[in-house]
Amino acid sequence: MEQLQTPKFLYMNKALRLWDEGKLHVGCEAVNRGLNVFEGLKGYWQPDGTFAVVNVSDHYRRLQRSSRILHIPFTTAFDEFSEAINQLAAALLVVERDMWFRTTLFVTEGHWGEGTVADLVVTAYNQEKVIPSPVDLGISTWQRSTDLSLPCRAKTGTNYQVARLARIEGRQRGCSDMILLNGFGRVAESTASCVLIVRDGAIYTPTASEGALESITVDILEALAASLDIPFFRRPIDRTELMVADEIALVGTLAEVMLARSIDGLPLDGDAPILSRLQARYFQAVRGLDPHSSVHLCPVGLI
Ligand code: PMP
Repeated sequence: MEQLQTPKFLYMNKALRLWDEGKLHVGCEAVNRGLNVFEGLKGYWQPDGTFAVVNVSDHYRRLQRSSRILHIPFTTAFDEFSEAINQLAAALLVVERDMWFRTTLFVTEGHWGEGTVADLVVTAYNQEKVIPSPVDLGISTWQRSTDLSLPCRAKTGTNYQVARLARIEGRQRGCSDMILLNGFGRVAESTASCVLIVRDGAIYTPTASEGALESITVDILEALAASLDIPFFRRPIDRTELMVADEIALVGTLAEVMLARSIDGLPLDGDAPILSRLQARYFQAVRGLDPHSSVHLCPVGLI
């Protein structure tokens, strides 16, 4: 497991700060109740030597939706959001290393939903420029929460407690990641990404109502699949369909398109002909080698 980096700077309280200044008070709801909403964004070096982040406005809009669900007043203008990412990228970018950004609204003031105030904090981490290797997946005994218990549509830190338990369970079973089922025993998503399966030449993924996050990457991949003439459907997926799927992948901004080598100990076709085509097309698009209308590249790091 890669250690969390401690970069020199972060963005907090409307300015770049030294990493060690990134502190929250023990009395605030962000600490006491884990109250925050966040986004993970990813940027890639482009062929013309610029660096660009994928679909920034989609992430901004989802952050706004998560805030609304949790009654966190959303006061961050889009320009402030993108400029915070821009400034931090300028301070931390390393040539030819990818970077991912975590933009979090931490609730710093207020109590039980009254007087709620949040602060935008941005952290960023360098990453190697690689295409992820196939992984062994398991099906967790932990369950995705429901829309009425802890809504999956809100991307909030507290939603990841179950994901953490699933990862711990997965480690004991030799799995890199785990798939969580919903209360009906159908596929929801994995701990930090969505799930695609292939059956008889078509790609399937569960809808958000099954307990999957409203994923920006799934939207991109659906559009890329259309361009590649690969049928793509959103519908409920049974547990046993994972066992008989021809191919499986985890997809998300940070997972990108990560193929599965096995599911609960059952080996999968290592070639994954359909999902590896989609994976290749995804990287071509985000790295600007073969642009696609579903991938909006926002240049950052240029001050
Ligand atoms: N589900 C969960 C629980 C996630 O954390 C993520 C990553 N944001 C995803 C799905 C994939 O969403 P996206 O494609 O928008 O990154």
